Amino acid sequence: MSVPIIRTVADLRRVVTGWRQENLTVGVVPTMGALHEGHLSLVRAALEKTDRVIVTLFVNPKQFNNAADLAAYPRTEHEDAAKLAPLGAHILYAPDGGEIYPESFATTVSVSGVSKGLCGAHRAGHFDGVATIVTKLFLQTGADFAFFGEKDFQQLHVVRRLVRDLDLPIDVIACPTVREDDGLAMSSRNVRLSAAERQAAPKLAEVLFAAAKQLSVGDRVEKVLAEASKAIRAAGYSSVEYLELRAEDDLSPLNVADRPARLLAAAWLGETRLIDNVEVVHNV
Ligand code: AMP
Repeated sequence: MSVPIIRTVADLRRVVTGWRQENLTVGVVPTMGALHEGHLSLVRAALEKTDRVIVTLFVNPKQFNNAADLAAYPRTEHEDAAKLAPLGAHILYAPDGGEIYPESFATTVSVSGVSKGLCGAHRAGHFDGVATIVTKLFLQTGADFAFFGEKDFQQLHVVRRLVRDLDLPIDVIACPTVREDDGLAMSSRNVRLSAAERQAAPKLAEVLFAAAKQLSVGDRVEKVLAEASKAIRAAGYSSVEYLELRAEDDLSPLNVADRPARLLAAAWLGETRLIDNVEVVHNV
């Protein structure tokens, strides 16, 4: 069993047109490959909800603000295709750079508001790159539903804003973060961690969950965040890029946990930047 790989927009459109003629619904799962269980959970959700599922694999240069990060990004198309086949995904759409960004390419999709702060403050141009590729993939696939992980919580908000603002005819479905047994959020970048770093890595999630619990019972935000940041660094992280409480529905900054919220963090472990976020239930 294998999953057919499509490389061009023309071939993709031909297949999707055939599906449309049969009145089948279409789901898309955008990824940058190096697939892990987090990605596969999105594919399973898509297979449950739609008749045909397109997984896209494109390491999008426009969303990398760091050339070394782009160069080091794992590329494992063969293994990715092998992981998708048994699930029953219908197509792996893996265009090359020239297909997506031909030489004269000159358009950028830019979402303001939710793109600011958090990752947006530290990765210049990142969300413009995300918004541009996601718009292209939505238009190329013509999918009815798109599946995104809460792991990249700000990205999820950027995509939702984009879909609303441009009236794109697609529903965005959010899927929960999949974690390793020790709590570390799965990420394609985890393979870059040394053995010692891998051991220290789960502390980020552990601290976030503990802090979220304190916030949900009304502990002071400033104090909880300061202590959590200290605990992340004590675990071996070299720096905490951000650790912030934001509203669940619109990502606005919160000084008090008086509504449903998310605690979001980015931190560096050696040369690797990890992000994570947890829900803060509003109990008080
Ligand atoms: P990426 O390949 O990292 O660009 O991610 C592709 C999609 O998979 C995005 O919607 C991510 O949010 C989602 N994703 C990545 N890691 C996880 C995870 N651990 N759990 C759930 N979804 C994830």
